[in-house]
Amino acid sequence: MLKYFYIESYGCQMNIYDNELIITILTNNNLLYVNNIYKADLVLINTCSIRKKSEKNIYNRLLFLNSIKKKKKFLLCLVGCMSKRIDYDYFFKKKILDFVVGPDQYRKLPNIIKSLNDNRYSYNVILSNEENYKNIIPIKLYSKNKVSSFITISRGCDNMCTFCVVPFTRGREKSKSPKDIIKECKNLCNLGYKEIVLLGQNVDSYLWNKKNYIKKNIINNKLKKNINFANLLEIISKLFPNIRIRFSTSNPQDMSLDVIKIMKKYNNICKYIHLPFQSGSNRILKLMNRKYNRLKYINLINNIKNIIPNCSLSYDIITGFCTENYKDHIDTLNLMKYIKFDFGYMFCYSHIKNTYAYKNFKDTVPTYIKKKRLNDIINLQRKHSFLKLKKYVNTVQEILIEGTSKKDKNYWYGKNSQNIIIVFPKNKEKLGDFVNVKIINNTSATLIGKFKSFL
Ligand code: SF4
Repeated sequence: MLKYFYIESYGCQMNIYDNELIITILTNNNLLYVNNIYKADLVLINTCSIRKKSEKNIYNRLLFLNSIKKKKKFLLCLVGCMSKRIDYDYFFKKKILDFVVGPDQYRKLPNIIKSLNDNRYSYNVILSNEENYKNIIPIKLYSKNKVSSFITISRGCDNMCTFCVVPFTRGREKSKSPKDIIKECKNLCNLGYKEIVLLGQNVDSYLWNKKNYIKKNIINNKLKKNINFANLLEIISKLFPNIRIRFSTSNPQDMSLDVIKIMKKYNNICKYIHLPFQSGSNRILKLMNRKYNRLKYINLINNIKNIIPNCSLSYDIITGFCTENYKDHIDTLNLMKYIKFDFGYMFCYSHIKNTYAYKNFKDTVPTYIKKKRLNDIINLQRKHSFLKLKKYVNTVQEILIEGTSKKDKNYWYGKNSQNIIIVFPKNKEKLGDFVNVKIINNTSATLIGKFKSFL
């Protein structure tokens, strides 16, 4: 009889949210969550497939867990994005894994566990077109941050970018009902959270349609057929005016002006957008099957800057994609020089099995060139970030205290609306306070300040 379970997570924020979902489903079925692997009868590993390196790290972790599993006699279950991608024969034959469950089948976990004698060395990785986790309000046990928390509003993606595994690991896009999202927001408010981060692989394509529409729309009491992302943002920021709202990830091909206007209209929606552009070359964007070009992206950025001048911007970029040449790389650097982003997430292209690019293109750019171009991008971004953050010196920023600085336990860290990290010496404040901080200095990643007043 399994009694105690432990779960560890790799990859993105959606996996952290899924951890809380799994913990809720299992604790609702009388299993007890322990955060110490040596006390567990069942160990779950929530995996990420975004790059080859992430998968390699997890294979190594599985081999290590297998080495202690023999002594500790726990069962090992793999969940998350690798669930459809691993070699079942190898991991079952070697008895490294006991069962595998995919991101749309976590509701089935208790039954699979109950009938493990029959289900040992089996997998259920079916991807669904429906939102499978209706009415589950996740228990907030896993995340250490008791101030800001995630709510997944949609799962999967329909965009089929040629370098990406997500459509194959998380399936088609499915939006969660606004009713369930509002319930989760209420729950977080009752638990004392001060910030909610709405998550989706592509929040801009969130759409709750007529067949599931809620009885009466909260805004203007008018019946509404569809709830899109701009509507959802307005509903939540109006219902929870004292809670900070953030969202990620936006998509340049789907982002609407309505979303930007709603961000401007409500103070509690943070003035920060994460808008991956991946490459500055139109030729590469086409090969990536990204449905925008440089001009469209620049126009969107200009609209954001016109409507919300103090909005901060970050991006994802992939360098060294199949056939990328030096001119493509220069196009990318020039786009960065034109926009001057606040910060970014920068990666070398990873030729991942089963993606369209893997099946149809050659991984032509040598690793040393990928790394050299990545360095160019990182160095340029570091310069831009330093200049952007320098503009905050001598200003007063409203921040939400999220925790103790990793570098100095006598310092708090928190973020302003622009998602910029600020550290300042501790005094009478406490976790979760909104405070005004006078900025006295900056690095390329952080603002340094001193306490000014409570809000
Ligand atoms: S938008 Fe593209 S990169 Fe993002 S999750 Fe969807 S397929 Fe992947």
